[in-house]
Amino acid sequence: MKKIKKWALVGLTCMTMLFGAVACGGDKKESATTAGAEAGGAATDGATGGQIVFGTNAEFPPFEFVGGEGVIGQYDGIDMAIAKQIGTDIGKEATINNMEFDSLLLALQNGQIDAVIAGMTVTDERKEAVDFSIPYYTATQVMIVPQDSTIAKAADMADKKIVVIQGYTGETVVNDLGYKYEAFKKGTEAIMELKNGKCDVVVIDSATAQKYVKDNPELKIVEDESAFGNEEYAIAVKKGNTELLNQINTSIQKMLDEGTISDLSAKYLDAE
Ligand code: GLN
Repeated sequence: MKKIKKWALVGLTCMTMLFGAVACGGDKKESATTAGAEAGGAATDGATGGQIVFGTNAEFPPFEFVGGEGVIGQYDGIDMAIAKQIGTDIGKEATINNMEFDSLLLALQNGQIDAVIAGMTVTDERKEAVDFSIPYYTATQVMIVPQDSTIAKAADMADKKIVVIQGYTGETVVNDLGYKYEAFKKGTEAIMELKNGKCDVVVIDSATAQKYVKDNPELKIVEDESAFGNEEYAIAVKKGNTELLNQINTSIQKMLDEGTISDLSAKYLDAE
């Protein structure tokens, strides 16, 4: 399984994505006013207050989840540790506003949050709505199937019951392959569906899949590099917020150079 741990030893240039983008939320989905308000402070475009408010969706282990000791309040994970370090580096307190994944970019555009850190893949469509930092992690889509599944490559999903998570790049990838699928709101719900034998395969990001399979030994991961390209995770800021973007980039570059992000990934993926 180590094999799919592709570290973000990436340059400053984003790789061209091999597939299309998913909904950016800029002109659809729910209103940002329904998104959580746990940060307890209004965001400012340039994070000029004493806080930098990060939006996330804490349903994406090992990047963000509720539980553990919590790096920022009750929120734990690789992204949360990165967010906290960015706060430290720019002299602000990092706080978290937890909301639905689909609401994140809209909340950013509305100024409700300063930045999005959510294992978010850079896509051309999202780039039209927001600006992305340098990438900090490389992932890919994988298939999670029961141990005894005959699915060995993406094409084997053609006549199978496929589940994806709504708004994730996994949904776009399966859609682009032309297969029918059902979209669930949460990864945990999708995994439950698979464990209950109600679907045959869940398509989701690699590190999150590793976490779910580790917790559910009756499941396994199937990779298909020819069908699923690399994805780069990056932090999003409001379009034109170059001051904050530059600060975030400096902080991420430092964490990449010092091996902090690799260490965090190892820690959270290996953690029991
Ligand atoms: N990387 C996937 C995406 O950007 C999933 C991210 C997430 O669920 N937090 O769509």
